[in-house]
This record gives sequence, structure tokens and C-alpha cells, in this order.
Amino acid sequence: MLSYRHAFHAGNHADVLKHLSLVLCCLHLSKKDKPFCYLDTHAGAGMYNLNSEAAQKNQEYLTGVDKLMQSNSVPEAFKPYQALIRQARDLNPRAYPGSPWFAAQTLRAHDSLQLFELHPNDFQQLTRLFSRDKRVKTHNSDGYQSLKSLFPPPSRRGITLIDPPYEQEQEYQAVLATLREGIKRFNTGAYIVWYPLINRQASAKSSASEKMVKQIHTEFSQEQLHVQYIVDPAAKGMYGSGLAILNPPWGLQEQLQEALSFLCRNTGNPNSRFNLTMQAVNQNPRA
Ligand code: SAM
Repeated sequence: MLSYRHAFHAGNHADVLKHLSLVLCCLHLSKKDKPFCYLDTHAGAGMYNLNSEAAQKNQEYLTGVDKLMQSNSVPEAFKPYQALIRQARDLNPRAYPGSPWFAAQTLRAHDSLQLFELHPNDFQQLTRLFSRDKRVKTHNSDGYQSLKSLFPPPSRRGITLIDPPYEQEQEYQAVLATLREGIKRFNTGAYIVWYPLINRQASAKSSASEKMVKQIHTEFSQEQLHVQYIVDPAAKGMYGSGLAILNPPWGLQEQLQEALSFLCRNTGNPNSRFNLTMQAVNQNPRA
């Protein structure tokens, strides 16, 4: 079942949290000359148009990227992300990029990207977007299985983004299995897992993210940075989202602290808030 299309959600508050964090992580890894690999298990189409019928349906970008782009003075941490959005908008003023595009702009000539996308249309768009970029390999196959064949990367440096649609409840378990597989083969890589925060009344999936995050806390001994951005605690359905970042780059926590304080001040909702916690190496209960 592939009913999820990211075009309906492009540029929403969850994308802002995820893409801001991704850009910062990539920039941190780019500080050393040694090459690294970016792997996106659920890549999407790579570029979206906020004027499209899909994006216009719920206009989710209004409380996400539009709010940010209207701000004149943003904290330092936002500047590279904002600059990349402006770069994408040089070609189309209502463009909003996806995770593979943000990563591709921050990676260097000797880095590489492995992008997995199952939906045939999104895969086609993704492949077309990167057709001239020799660093990029796109795969029309299951991202949950991707790490088995590719890890450890030859460079032994890398960032993996795990960003599924969570259409089915078993996807939460699939994320854990993917993370397990990745850590087993490449335990020093950075892993970014995105998850939704869903209000209890909304669905049976409401506490699935919390259970998955708890499992990540207890099972993995890597250093972990946990971030949650709660935009509107009273919202029906998705009221916010979070990231579990394993082996986060040094300095990322402080940057996200500054960025999320700013985001929460600018949502227009006095109840917006964020949580940011760091779990040091081997501080998990089972280690
Ligand atoms: N990472 C993208 C971004 O930030 O721009 C958004 C990805 S979207 C949340 C999830 C994508 O995963 C959808 O495009 C969907 O078609 C794709 N997908 C669903 N199941 C998949 C699987 N098992 N393997 C690879 N892609 C999958």
C-alpha cells in the first residue's frame, strides 16, 4: 500500500524540523575532508511545488516553511537551511525541496548519496532530479532493506535518514529493525529517525511513536539526541513531531536549542514547546 504522497505535506512544521536538522548534520560532517555517504531510506520526490493541487489541499506549509521564510532575523542555525530554500526558489518561487535535495546541496564532490523510494511516480521524479549528479544513486526498492546491502559504507562515515510514512502500525517495528541492522554493520554512523506525535483521540497509532522512542532509548548504547517540536498540543491528529538522532554531531544540540526556541516563539500559539534531551553513551538502562 503506497497511498502516502509527501506532496500533500511538503514544507510543514515536521519538514522544517527534519530538514533543518539534516542540513546541520551534513554541514558538521562536511567539516572534515574525508568523504561520507548519505543514505535516505524513504526519499520522496526530492522537490515539491507549494502551488500544486496536492500542497494546496491543506496548505500545511503555512505553519511550517512559510512562517520561517517570513522572518527577517533568524538565529544563525537557520541560515544555511534558509539559504538553500532561496536557492531552490531561484528556479521556482514556490518550490520546497525534499530531504535528498537538501543533502545533495551540502555534500561535496567526493561524497555520495544512496536514495530509496518505492512509489513509481516519486521515484521517477527523484531520478530525473538527480540524473546529472554522478554522486547520486537512486533505488526503486524497499528502504527498510537498504542498509543490509550497503553498510558499512567504504568511507566509514555517514548519515542515514529514516523517514517513513508510518501508514501501517508495523512500520514502527520496521524502523527499529532497520536501525538495528544499521548499527550492527556501522555503529559509528549518524542515524536520524523522524516520527509523528499524534493525539490520543486520533488513532490507534497515537502512542506508537512514544513506544518506539522508548525502545530506541533502552536498546541502543550510542549517544542519542532526542528532539520533539510540539506545535499545537490541542491539534487533532498530528500535533508535532520528533527526531531520534543516534551519534549526533558535536554542537548540534546547542544549534537545535537556539532554533527551536525561535520556532516556538513564532508559531503564534502560546502553547507551542519543544523538548531536547541528550542521552550519553551507555546511559541506556540495559547497557
Ligand atoms: N524523506 C522525504 C523528505 O523529507 O523530503 C519524505 C519522505 S515521505 C515521509 C515517505 C516516502 O517513503 C514516500 O515518498 C513513500 O512513497 C516512500 N515509501 C513508503 N514505503 C517505502 C519503503 N518501504 N521503501 C522506500 N520508500 C518507501
